[in-house]
Amino acid sequence: MNHDSNEYNASAALHGGRDESFADAFCEPLALTSAYTFSSAQDAFEKFSGQRQGNVYSRFTNPTVRTFERRMAALEGAQDAAAFATGMGAITALCHALLRQGDNVVCSRDVFGTTIIALRNYMGRFGIEVRLVELTDLDAWARHIDDNTRLVLLESPSNPLLNVADLRGICRIAHAHGARVAVDNTLLTPVFQRPHAFGADLVVHSAGKYIDGQGRALAGVITGSSELVGELRGVLRSLGISCSPFNAWLLLKSLETLEVRMERVADSALALASWLRQQAQVEAVHYTGLAEHPQHALASEQQHGHGGLLSFRLHGGRPAAWAWIDALQLVARCTNIGDTRSMVTHPATTTHCRLSAGEQQAAGICEGLVRLSVGLERLDDLKTDLDTAFSAAKRSLQTRPGNARVYEVAS
Ligand SMILES: *Cc1c(COP(=O)(O)O)cnc(C)c1O
Repeated sequence: MNHDSNEYNASAALHGGRDESFADAFCEPLALTSAYTFSSAQDAFEKFSGQRQGNVYSRFTNPTVRTFERRMAALEGAQDAAAFATGMGAITALCHALLRQGDNVVCSRDVFGTTIIALRNYMGRFGIEVRLVELTDLDAWARHIDDNTRLVLLESPSNPLLNVADLRGICRIAHAHGARVAVDNTLLTPVFQRPHAFGADLVVHSAGKYIDGQGRALAGVITGSSELVGELRGVLRSLGISCSPFNAWLLLKSLETLEVRMERVADSALALASWLRQQAQVEAVHYTGLAEHPQHALASEQQHGHGGLLSFRLHGGRPAAWAWIDALQLVARCTNIGDTRSMVTHPATTTHCRLSAGEQQAAGICEGLVRLSVGLERLDDLKTDLDTAFSAAKRSLQTRPGNARVYEVAS
């Protein structure tokens, strides 16, 4: 190569100054590459055929994504992990990896709404039966799981009502029938619950919630045995629901602060839950950290903490809930969860609005229910915002003739 030439060196623009090894970089490098070079045809053959580990193509092998996967596996106490584009992508891969025509899936009724739609409307087309059961009713799990059950899927605690499953009991029933158990651990993260310890075969995360925790990236991840994760990676390679390296890189950074964020939101959530139950306008508070929670003992045994999500029911139904939500100044009206900033949602008219009135009632989603995802703001500031909103909601309802009576009952 003639370095004295005045000619633009197009090859150097592509190949020059390349650092083959980032091994001494303090922060994990972001490998924004779709493909990889091979040292020889033999090297390519061995990596493509899986005889030797190595990077092939970023749809299923990328060093930044791989670092995120290994870190998640370590955090959940699993042999391996596979990352996906989104939480729903992870659940889709899970179904494709495990299910065949004629199988059934037994799923708790109060999993993430889109999970039920994905199972019923899409997996249902391939001849897979979906059976929904009450999360807390162990007898119902025993009645519905049979020898055709390949997958048992649940979330504990559930969102937004914070019902708690007996993880050990459900795993025992499922394993007796040869079924795999997948637990969606998005709400608590491995900081507060490690479902593999109770027998879960697979642990699923929507990583854009607490794991990112800063509302920047979508991703999903599943941890489990090398064998099961190998099957998931096969789906990833063929169906292409891949995690972006950039998102994996963000998530690696986020994981470094996961524990301190989780501890802080859990402390604030408990303080707010205790305070909310003393408010006259509040009919009931759902938070597993409260001693009065029906499964507080089970939650305290399975979990190291109670997380940052709580919900509560206001007296006065939708007008009261909406008035309170609209009066908040600091807490954002946003249907997401797990962010550094606090967020509020009215489930009946947002996340659960596709359910019929009857289905909402069966699911316990009433019109007065409000969900709060507690963030990292100062606790006093949050309390002031919630308190001010109660006063403002009360005033606004009293000035509306049709609703005045509601608050006489409440206070
Ligand atoms: C958000 C969420 C999902 C879906 O994840 P996406 O990344 O939005 O696809 C699944 N499970 C739970 C518990 C969730 O909160």
